[in-house]
Amino acid sequence: MFKAPATFTARLCILRPSLRRTQCASMMVQNASTKANLSHEERTATEPRGDGLHVVRVDRVTAVNDNIRTFKLAIEDTRNGIDFLPGQWLDVHVPSIKKAGGFTVTSSPREAIPATSTEKPFLELAIQKSPDNPPAAWFWQPAETITGARLNVRIGGSFVWPPPGLVKESIKRVVFIAGGVGINPLMSMISYIGQQRDSLEQVRLLYATKLPSTNPERTEILFLPRILDFFCEPRTSSQDLKGHLELFVTGAHNKTSRSDKDVSGLLNLPPPEPEADATVKVYQGRIDESALSRAVGDPETQSSSVFYVCGPPHMTDSIVQHLRNKENVASEQVLCEKWW
Ligand SMILES: Cc1cc2nc3c(=O)[nH]c(=O)nc-3n(C[C@H](O)[C@H](O)[C@H](O)COP(=O)(O)OP(=O)(O)OC[C@H]3O[C@@H](n4cnc5c(N)ncnc54)[C@H](O)[C@@H]3O)c2cc1C
Repeated sequence: MFKAPATFTARLCILRPSLRRTQCASMMVQNASTKANLSHEERTATEPRGDGLHVVRVDRVTAVNDNIRTFKLAIEDTRNGIDFLPGQWLDVHVPSIKKAGGFTVTSSPREAIPATSTEKPFLELAIQKSPDNPPAAWFWQPAETITGARLNVRIGGSFVWPPPGLVKESIKRVVFIAGGVGINPLMSMISYIGQQRDSLEQVRLLYATKLPSTNPERTEILFLPRILDFFCEPRTSSQDLKGHLELFVTGAHNKTSRSDKDVSGLLNLPPPEPEADATVKVYQGRIDESALSRAVGDPETQSSSVFYVCGPPHMTDSIVQHLRNKENVASEQVLCEKWW
């Protein structure tokens, strides 16, 4: 069972709105020069952490594109699995490196618990190539070198679904906004929501991502196939949930001549199933004000919505600012996490 330190509940539920307004999970106040000397554990020292270390084994390494790999980590304690909340990350102790790295769990908590999973319990990570970060570089060794290696991991973090301090049943709509590998914690949350039966009515995702190559396969965009499964599949009648996906593609090669339709065609996106009650749209360029306004919705919708933002620091800051300026959006309704 994930046990938060005593300060966890206090930090999340009693934190005054005025304080939360300026904070993102996992952030310490730092400038560029202090940041360079901080390890993951130092950077997240004020975040809640689980009590124990768990042993996992690198089971499968998958290249998504030239810069991102996913890792399936088999949980050694197959009887108990590992308990965590969607959105949390791991301190990852890799062999022969003293300080832990920090990487977010991208799979649903249900995959880590033996009773609810058809497979043996596992955790999944998605790690961007970062040769200067020793733990990330360890994961980028040849797959055959690291497959089978045992690692110690600890769960941590407060950027989680359901949102702390809010009554879950009062939330009708959740809006996820991701930039690049910022999709990681949101992927865990989306998968989990897809597996639960709760009172949510709408899930929206705004996902900004670079096109990884000139003629990309859909699979080269991190988690796009999984996201499309969620948004394009008809939901069961027991889960009356509408989906709305907007993909913002940046760095499209030959930008000048490509339209939104071309980019959509390039990715060969399937139309949603007729009965799926979902929309999937592709735009070229960044998430802009009009996209945000559509996502925020009318004043009545705003008050029953929560917003999760995870992406590069500037993107996260400006989107969070935009959302928190809305009159009907309380600061507790906007959650964000910044890594860099
Ligand atoms: C909460 C959280 C979740 C994250 N989730 C993900 C994720 O899911 N996927 C992902 O790809 N990235 C994730 N990251 C980012 C990841 O942990 C690294 O920050 C990233 O790989 C960038 O590394 P960097 O070397 O460019 O910069 P930094 O991590 O800022 O490191 C700067 C410098 O500090 C030193 N340093 C840092 N860590 C160590 C260490 N352990 N041992 C020795 N020296 C060190 C190195 O000299 C390094 O160059 C997450 C970060 C946080 C805080």
